[in-house]
Amino acid sequence: MSPATTQPNCIFCKIVRGEIPAQKLYEDAEVLAFPDIRPQAPVHLLIIPKVHVANLYDATAAHQAALGKMLAVAGRLAREAGADDGFRVIINNGRVGHQEVYHVHMHVLGGPEPLGPMLQRKR
Ligand code: 5GP
Ligand code: ZN
Repeated sequence: MSPATTQPNCIFCKIVRGEIPAQKLYEDAEVLAFPDIRPQAPVHLLIIPKVHVANLYDATAAHQAALGKMLAVAGRLAREAGADDGFRVIINNGRVGHQEVYHVHMHVLGGPEPLGPMLQRKR
């Protein structure tokens, strides 16, 4: 990926550029998938666009192909990772969404046992 489409200090751009190691589970011209370094479920993958976009607030029509591809490959990658009886995708955005890494990424989370509730409701 050319420097024009990646950010020098972004951790996921560094993975795209090969500067930080990650086990590539899937790669094409638009997206890259690799295991989350701190898995929160037996299956926990991340799928990212190769182009830097901080979060969905910054997404435009220019990102449509990559964002669509992230969804289009999720089922196959979940199944290949062992989550063949259901999985969940999550995209955290901004402060309220508890986003930690400001490069769009889709979490793919799976079992084998059912995951917890989607959200813990605060009382
Ligand atoms: P967020 O809260 O932004 O949705 O999630 C960021 C995720 O990125 C976290 O689950 C975290 O474990 C993962 N992560 C952070 N740094 C790295 C890294 O260098 N490599 C990998 N594979 N995952 C990372
Ligand atoms: Zn980035």
